[in-house]
Amino acid sequence: MNYQEAIKAIKSNYPLSNYSMLREALDLSIELLEKATPKKPNWIYDDEPLCPYCGEVLDGTEEHCDECDQRLDWGDTYVD
Ligand SMILES: [Zn+2]
Repeated sequence: MNYQEAIKAIKSNYPLSNYSMLREALDLSIELLEKATPKKPNWIYDDEPLCPYCGEVLDGTEEHCDECDQRLDWGDTYVD
């Protein structure tokens, strides 16, 4: 099971009511799993990649966003 499959499994078994502490824990788990899944940066300006999670400006070399710890997927983007 990979991170995205885990998120799917959590969402499809998410309690609809009550269990507020469990729901809080599941929300936290989903957030961490999302951040652990490498995501492509947003390129709103050509030379300024932004974190897809928090919008922080990235320098193009980091594996994780310094601000929110989102894991980044630079794909075939040029990385210095
Ligand atoms: Zn970020």
